[in-house]
Amino acid sequence: MRTPSPFDLTGRTALVTGANTGIGQGIALALAEAGATVVAAGRSGMSETLALIEGSGGKAQALGVDLQQDGAAARAIEEAQALVGPLDILINNAGIIRRADALDFGEADWDEVMNVNLKAGFFLAQAFAKAALARQRGGRIVNIASLLSFQGGIRVASYTASKSGLAGLTKLLACEWAAKGINVNAIAPGYIESNNTQALREDPDRNSAILARIPAGRWGKPSDIGGAAVFLASDAAAYMHGAIIPVDGGWLAR
Ligand code: NAP
Repeated sequence: MRTPSPFDLTGRTALVTGANTGIGQGIALALAEAGATVVAAGRSGMSETLALIEGSGGKAQALGVDLQQDGAAARAIEEAQALVGPLDILINNAGIIRRADALDFGEADWDEVMNVNLKAGFFLAQAFAKAALARQRGGRIVNIASLLSFQGGIRVASYTASKSGLAGLTKLLACEWAAKGINVNAIAPGYIESNNTQALREDPDRNSAILARIPAGRWGKPSDIGGAAVFLASDAAAYMHGAIIPVDGGWLAR
């Protein structure tokens, strides 16, 4: 008989924020294909994601949550656990971006991005960890960072601040919780085809400059991120703590 795969997530439960589209949808599908029962959470309808998961033989439930609202993070963890039982995996994926020159950048564009990308991610992690520790159960947290966790970028001040902050938080939480059985890591996607990058892909100059710098020679797809998420959520990553893994077609290696 073959040894069970260390990447198998059968019997695990996972909450994925922003799972209706893009990278979150790709990760939700990959986790479900690896055997996890997924709570697909976000502020938009989840019917497409649920259909994809159920169509591939997986299990998923939808959860409505607007992460701009105070207290939404803790409520989302509680409601997800009411749907599927204790959570094993949290994927902090929901995120927004606002573009303007730094000289013109407004406070609303600062606050909204920081609230969703950084504050909600922290308080989701906190509520997840409290629940896991109360049950003396470990857990896996995967934050979706960015190339702008490492680089500056242009015209996206609050996004760069939030993703650089998320990289720092990933390391802080890993240090506090590693010995308690909770692994905190992050994935830094490169340039991925999604709503987030639609404006860039539609700008011929930015599109060709970006493509010319990607060693793989193409934009990534949401499904390109799923494998790294399955790995970090699985027993195969038991000794990974505080890592920020680029999945970027080679962009940072250039
Ligand atoms: P996307 O298609 O725009 O997806 C963003 C997701 O976040 C959507 O599901 C969105 O829901 C959700 N969301 C936004 N505000 C929310 C709120 N207040 N409450 C709940 N959910 C909310 O973009 P994406 O590229 O897949 O982005 C996913 C993550 O990857 C983000 O954290 C992003 O920063 C990161 N990332 C993306 C790239 C890239 O190249 N695409 C690169 C690096 C990192 P709605 O559909 O309802 O807006």
